[in-house]
Parts: sequence; structure tokens; C-alpha cells
Amino acid sequence: MGKNLTQRILQSHLVQGTLKPGQEIALRIDQTLLQDATGTVAMLEFESLGIDSVKVELAAQYVDHNLLQVDSRNADDHRYLQTACAKYGVYFSPPGNGICHQVHMERFGMPGKILLGADSHTPSAAGVSVLGIGAGGLDVAMAMAGYPYHLDCPKVLGVKLTGRLSEWVSAKDVILEMLRRHGVKGCVGKIIEYYGPGVKNLSATDRETIGNMGTELGATSTIFPSDDNTRKYLEATGRGDAWKELSPDEGAGYDEYDEIDLSSLEPLIACPPSPGSVVPVREVAGVKVDQVIIGACVNSSFRDLMVVGRTLEGRHHHQNTFLHINPGSRQVLENVVHYGGAISLLKAGARIHQSGCLGCVGMGQCAGTGQVSLRTFPRNFPGRSGNKQDMVYLCSPETAAASALKGVITDPRDLSDEMDYPRIEDPPRYIIDDGSIIAPSGELRKTEVIRGPNIKLLPAFSPLPDSLRAEVVIKVGDDVSTDAIMPAGNEVLPFRSNIEALSGFVFFQIDPEFSKRARAKENGVVIAGENYGQGSSREHAALAPRYLGIRVKIAKSFARIHRANLCNFGIVPLVFRTPTDYDLFNNDSKLVFHRLKEHIERGDREIPVKVNGKEVITLLQVSDRERKYLLAGGALNYVKTVVSKSGDIS
Ligand code: SF4
Repeated sequence: MGKNLTQRILQSHLVQGTLKPGQEIALRIDQTLLQDATGTVAMLEFESLGIDSVKVELAAQYVDHNLLQVDSRNADDHRYLQTACAKYGVYFSPPGNGICHQVHMERFGMPGKILLGADSHTPSAAGVSVLGIGAGGLDVAMAMAGYPYHLDCPKVLGVKLTGRLSEWVSAKDVILEMLRRHGVKGCVGKIIEYYGPGVKNLSATDRETIGNMGTELGATSTIFPSDDNTRKYLEATGRGDAWKELSPDEGAGYDEYDEIDLSSLEPLIACPPSPGSVVPVREVAGVKVDQVIIGACVNSSFRDLMVVGRTLEGRHHHQNTFLHINPGSRQVLENVVHYGGAISLLKAGARIHQSGCLGCVGMGQCAGTGQVSLRTFPRNFPGRSGNKQDMVYLCSPETAAASALKGVITDPRDLSDEMDYPRIEDPPRYIIDDGSIIAPSGELRKTEVIRGPNIKLLPAFSPLPDSLRAEVVIKVGDDVSTDAIMPAGNEVLPFRSNIEALSGFVFFQIDPEFSKRARAKENGVVIAGENYGQGSSREHAALAPRYLGIRVKIAKSFARIHRANLCNFGIVPLVFRTPTDYDLFNNDSKLVFHRLKEHIERGDREIPVKVNGKEVITLLQVSDRERKYLLAGGALNYVKTVVSKSGDIS
């Protein structure tokens, strides 16, 4: 049987292992991506590896998350990143230039490459047939240093697309349909590959939207064939040379199958509190809307903003509904200005903001008490907006525009009585603006790295003890996100390179006393339900708890990136063999892990733990390499003490 496209790309980058689902493989990485929320610590980690310049084909650093400069800390971090990029040979995209995924696709994405990004939405790169994988900052720092990236070989879910999207239905509705079918855990351990005759009816930025929110399904990545639409997009962005055709082999098969007839889709919406709570828009039509925000890396392209501009042309948003526009990049905004979309948006009363993540990561744009916010963003985890009681719905730009006009959630097809659907084509040639990106050069390599006073050294962690006595510090339920473990927002993010200060916010929204209690115990344990650590790739959700003394987390299941981050920082990720054992654990339960080190060294899968005197069996489902990280007290310890001597990362 021929290979599907995922297998072809993985095979061409395979440096270790075989492509058997579930077995650990190691991949050569072509490009890396850092953003500023995760990138400052990742850059510190890269520096601590003692490498004099990056070893990948292209490394890029974006400043898009933490744009507020209310005191010196963020500006200090931005200067640190800029100077470190200059010294180590990394492209630097400054604040205001755009969201990492949008800018990377515009300027650097090349079909067939593998991009490792310290951001969970790195699979947005599917827009130009790049296999984008989100990972923790340390994994990306190691890739920048030339080490391969290890992961369990995913299954490939082939999704056959047929038909063409109807008027007022767009790419966001395709990925919301996937979420409606599969939920937020349905694609864990899988790469989603779209194929079939419907693919040609989706533009590169449509595919970017679908790839982006594959992350919300738990998928490792998403890929589309590279075809004429890919070529047109690359040529329109002045990078036609980067194009090459890519498709699955004739007769290729997949591990699992699904099929979507694009013509059959209708406008969909994800209701609070999860991207997986998807219903048809018509089922919630009429709910009063206080705020509409169009933007974030999933829906901030030229098409997305232009369709809103054309829909609002000659009208004003409803007087009770505030309207925000967050462009994906400076280049997108310039093109929307050039093609007349911006004037329609301004006259419609929209607040057009600088390009960046903004309200998507709680950097402003928080809705008021009891207010409903309708966003084109990828996530609506509780509290992510900055308000614990937030009511955030996720929808397409079309649904957002219609709702902004009417002041209530509105099926955009209802506008057909008033106007024609403004189908937007990409321009044949975008206005190109890469003037703000600072490219590496020999001259810049002499730059001195400037570190502000808020940038602290990474904490040192001890190796795993022979046995461990610990207490449960917190017990949480299912689907706890990394936002809930380590919140973002304008109060917290300025501390991202100061782990001591940052650790005071761990679990802050669930339990403000958590960090105090954790510090008071010698060793701490977190107990969790299913899909623990879903969402953002932020490694701070492992690093800061480790700083507070958390040595073990026991869950019914873990999200992929978070489990890897736990191993990277020496926290043992255990899974209940019998899920109902979860009920035996409570806050302050006393636990004993006898001969924990010996179990891990010996390769045992079953790890016993005594809870209040009763023995429970848990499972350690990690690779041999991750066992070494756990024993060493974290990946950095392991790399520095073992690999740097032998040069062997295997
Ligand atoms: Fe930024 Fe939101 Fe996209 Fe994350 S999901 S990269 S915070 S826009």
C-alpha cells in the first residue's frame, strides 16, 4: 500500500525508530518557532545548552502574546529576546508585527518541512502543507540546538473532503464540525490528514484555520496536500520558489477514516466552557451578545477580516455590542486597508487593534460581569479571558459579523435577505511587508545579550530520590487546561522568566492558596481526571509546579504536550490503572512511593503507591528516554550531565 502524506513527511525526517503507531520515534526538525510567552524561558534553556548558534534551517522568535508594556518587565524581555536572537542566529519578529502562526505561514512556511513550535497552535502551518507540531519550550530549545524531537508515532486519521462550502459557511465551521464529532479528546495521538476532491475548494488560509484548531481535538498535527492553492498563496506572498507539490501516494491508506461533505455544513458555534461544546448557531440564536472579537491566530487572515468588512459595509454594529478586530499580522492589516476593508470596519464602529494575541491570552478585551463574548478564537477555557465567570462562544467570522450587527447570536444565513454573501478571494499579489522582521546576520552575531532585572536564572532541580513520601496538594477533575494550572493574562505573563514569582499563580483561579500549601509541604502530588493539561503548550505549567515541590501527578489521562513537559521537568506522570482509584485520593492524603527510583530505572510500567496505607497500582507510560529525564530530575539535567559528555541523545 502507498504511503499517505503524513507518512511520507515523517519518513523523510525519521532519524530513529519505525513508523508504528505508539512507538517512540525521533524526527529531524527543519524549522522552529518561539513566541514570547513561552520563548523567554525557552531561550534561557537554549543558552544553558552552551551552543553558539542555532542548528536548524530556520529559527524564528515572535513577540505577540505579551504586548502590554505597563512597566519595564515586558519591554525588558522583548529586548532580551531581540538581542539573544541576534547573537544566536534567530529571526526576530517584534511586537505589533503579528501573531506567530500567521506571520510564519506568510514569510517562512515551506511545503513538506517539519516545524516544531513552542505553541500548541503550531499546526496552523498546515495552511502551506508544513507539518507543524506544538511542543514544550525545552523541546524546541533542544531542537534549535540540533537535537531531534522525540514523540510517540501518531496514528493518521484520514478525513476525506467532498463538496464545496455553502454561502455564509466557512473553514471555521469545518473544524467546529470535527470538534462536534470527535470532542476535545477525540484525536489524541493522531495526525489529521485531509484529502479528497473537496480539498481544492479550500484556500491556504482556510486550511490554516482547520489546522490551527486540530489542536483543540487533541491532535498532534494536521496536514493538507500541497496543490495549486498552496502555490497561488505562496506566489501571492512573493514566495513562489518555496512551493512544491505534495500528495499522498496513489491508493494510500489511513489508520482511521472520516468524511465531511463540505456542502452539507451549516454555521456552528462552540458554547462555553469548551471548544468541544459545539451546536448549530440556530440552536443558540437570540442570545444577547455584549462583545464580538474577530481575530486570533485561527481567524485573522485577509479573507477573514475582509468578509467581516464587506458584511458590515455601510452599516454600524449594534449599539449594545462592542466590536473588536485583532489582525493576524501587519501585512494582513495593510492588505485589508488597501482593499477597502478597513474603512468599512472603522465606519461600522469597530475598534481595530494592533496585530497580536491580545484578548485570546487575556491581554485585555475581557468582557464585563455576566456579559457574553462571541469570538473567532480557538479556545474558550473558563477564565482564559481574564474573568472567572466568563461566557465565551467560538464561531466563524461570518457568524461574528452577523451577531455584531444584530446584537444577538445570529445565524449569518439570515443576512441573505438583506445582502449577497461577500465571497472573498485572496489577492493575486499581497502587499508584502517583512520590513519589521530582523534577519540573522554575521554582524548581528556580535550582539551582546541584554537581560533585564526580571530575567532570573532557571531554578536547579534535584534528581529523583530512591523513595518518595508526599502529600496531595490539590485534586482536580476532567479536562483541566494548562490555562487553569498556570494562568496567563496581564498580571501573570510579565513573570514568565521569573519562576519564583510566577509560581505564586499556579492554580490561582481554582485555588488561590495552592502555592502557599505546596510550599509548606516537602513533596507534593496533584491528582487529576481525564485529559489533564489540555490546551496551551506552556511548559510553565510543569516548571512552576516543580519549583513548588510537586514531584508526581496522577491522572486518569494526560494531554500529549503536558505529559512531555512533566517529564522534561522531572515530575513523574502516573496514570490510574483502575480509574475509580481516583476516588481514594483527597487533598492532604499521605502517599508513599517505595523504591520509586528503582521501579523507574528497571523500566517497570506498574508503579505502586500507598495512599493512607492502602496500595494502589498506577502506570508510568513514558519512553526509556523520558525515564532517564525523570531519574535525572529533568531533561536539562540529563542533557547537561549525560549527553554533553557523550554527544548521544538517544
Ligand atoms: Fe495567540 Fe490565541 Fe493563537 Fe495562542 S491561540 S497563539 S494566544 S492568538
